[in-house]
Amino acid sequence: MGYSAWFQCVNGCPGHYSLYDVIYACPHCGGLLEVRHDMEALRDRSPAAWMQLFDARARTTQWPYGSGVWGKKEWVIPDIADENIVSTFEGHTNLFWAERLGKRIDLPDLWIKMSGNSHTGSFKDLGMTVLVSVVKQMRAMGKPIMAVAAASTGDTSASLAAYAAAAGIPSVVLLPRGKVSTAQLIQPIANGAIVLALDTDFDGCMDIVKELTKDQTIYLANSMNSLRIEGQKTVGIEIVQQFNWSVPDWIVIPVGNLGNVSALGNGLLMMKELGLISKLPRLVAAQSANANPFYLSYKRGFQEKISIQAQPTMASAIQIGNPVSYPKAVKTLQAFDGIVEQATEEELAHASATADRTGLYTCPHTGVALAVLFKLRRRGIIHRDDRVVVISTAHGLKFTDFKLHYHENQIPGMEATLANPPIYLPPDANMIRDTILRTLEQRGNL
Ligand SMILES: *Cc1c(COP(=O)(O)O)cnc(C)c1O
Ligand SMILES: [Zn+2]
Repeated sequence: MGYSAWFQCVNGCPGHYSLYDVIYACPHCGGLLEVRHDMEALRDRSPAAWMQLFDARARTTQWPYGSGVWGKKEWVIPDIADENIVSTFEGHTNLFWAERLGKRIDLPDLWIKMSGNSHTGSFKDLGMTVLVSVVKQMRAMGKPIMAVAAASTGDTSASLAAYAAAAGIPSVVLLPRGKVSTAQLIQPIANGAIVLALDTDFDGCMDIVKELTKDQTIYLANSMNSLRIEGQKTVGIEIVQQFNWSVPDWIVIPVGNLGNVSALGNGLLMMKELGLISKLPRLVAAQSANANPFYLSYKRGFQEKISIQAQPTMASAIQIGNPVSYPKAVKTLQAFDGIVEQATEEELAHASATADRTGLYTCPHTGVALAVLFKLRRRGIIHRDDRVVVISTAHGLKFTDFKLHYHENQIPGMEATLANPPIYLPPDANMIRDTILRTLEQRGNL
């Protein structure tokens, strides 16, 4: 088969590095590395043959191809040994046709990519399966890696801990104390990671983990390690595949450290280069207004990277002020005629609650993406007959406090207009029937 992939500097410095080397940055300029594939070799199959192969593998039990990531192994890490792959058969998450939500904004062709319906409840699993598999292979090759480590806003650590535990590799996670949800804190604890809760924010944890992983025996699992991007890029390919290999008009994605939007773009560009698609969607990167460095950079035409001190946001997984993958994301936005837009706390909470009323159960980050979609639809930038996919990045069940505070109308500075608190009653059937009727009437359902 002869497919191959390697690390290379994003800024174009010379030098190829093995994916099984412990290296995260370009030795010449210090820039990020990206995974490059031998595209000529991949042309040995026609576009139709690739589509057929990927369709045939979808959801099979044949190891490791039943995974949404490893079903595209030749495009991800072609030469890794199957026995070193660590997978939960992640990917193949459903597209939810948001019919009722779409009606509210006069957008009939609205779909939600349910990336949070995954092993640890977020899209981070797509990247972590690749990173932990490569570590397993490196250890099998005799590389002295004693543990994997990551700074996290909660979902990376949950995913790392689970995959590391599945592989029997020790893991270390650095969390900003008090800034992740209860579910996100308990996940790596349950999976046996060494959990370090630090008195700093995510950006502070990131600085520390970079320091720790200068020692080659602790392997860095953050998304500046582009192995994760290789797994995450399958989400874009999968969306197109789910629409019978047709490309939607827009993809809206909530962004923080900017790894996932770059990954999404990479997958789509690879499909275009290999002739599986002939057009690209436009991308929308959605930020919380309280943590909006990418939005600020965009507003200044990406003249320079802007870093800020991120303020608290309910969208805690994207509370990031100094996004590591900024240069990659700028390239992506430019290639996809992209837009960056932001949402306030009130807007994200309202959008999330609105979506939930139509049967979804959205995390606050998905709330950010939806709030941004509502704005762009209102402004007429997104048109009625456009096909739009919103990437839901995590499962709402990880964010119970967010939901609880909203429905108790306890979010400071805003009125929770869709709050739906429980009604406390004695067990009296007549009184209960009256209450049900009165409530249906109040809601205009009678
Ligand atoms: C990590 C994460 C994001 C942001 O992804 P980046 O790659 O950091 O931009 C968005 N939503 C959720 C739920 C996440 O866990
Ligand atoms: Zn370089």
